[in-house]
Amino acid sequence: MNLSALAGNQRIKDQLSQQERERGLSHAYILSGPAGSGRHVLARQLAAAMLCTGTGERPCGRCVPCQKAAKGIHPDLSVIAGPEEGKPITVDQVRALRADAYIRPNEGERKVYLLEHADRMNPSAQNAMLKLLEEGPAYAAFLLLAENGTVTVCHSKTKNLKEVTSRADIVVAAVGKPKFITADYIKEGAVVIDVGIHRNAEGKLCGDVDFASVAPKAYAVTPVPGGVGPMTIAMLMANCVNGIEE
Ligand SMILES: [Zn+2]
Repeated sequence: MNLSALAGNQRIKDQLSQQERERGLSHAYILSGPAGSGRHVLARQLAAAMLCTGTGERPCGRCVPCQKAAKGIHPDLSVIAGPEEGKPITVDQVRALRADAYIRPNEGERKVYLLEHADRMNPSAQNAMLKLLEEGPAYAAFLLLAENGTVTVCHSKTKNLKEVTSRADIVVAAVGKPKFITADYIKEGAVVIDVGIHRNAEGKLCGDVDFASVAPKAYAVTPVPGGVGPMTIAMLMANCVNGIEE
């Protein structure tokens, strides 16, 4: 893929190019970074790559779809921003987007939606969007732009651990202590991913998260067993198949 329009970010460019070569681009990406990090440039390049009809490396920058995408006049590329400057995208906008996504592309094989400030959508807009991401038509692609995602690494002896985890939108628990993460570690509506696996006194499997206490407060929690484990196995098998094919 030709992502030279984006300065720096070599690792991301390499990963995306490899993905495009081997499996094709995904139908959804979250492009997160601080202001000036180039996420808008990358989103435009990805959109153009999805719509490009040139031969060789995409986006070619020369074909009609590439030029239309660059000028912002490609009928299969929509940019969705909030109703006013600085306002987040509303649930009504997501519903309109959903209706539009089910109308087949005008010119090419794909329809691409670029969503501004996707991180600021309220829960009902998020839910509508999530449904579309999961069940939308195969030709539709979504590029979600987000600002200022921060990754914080903690451990069981981090000072004020509860304070840190209870501010997080997503908590990934891999502490190695059974049922360590209880409801008071979690913000209302957070997503909790439990990587831990233990056997309790009765010989039953449990994770690092106290599921019964966290589940009512969180938006979603992965169970143990049946959460991260099967996903790991599925990815291992997929990698095995990929390895054999190569
Ligand atoms: Zn092109």
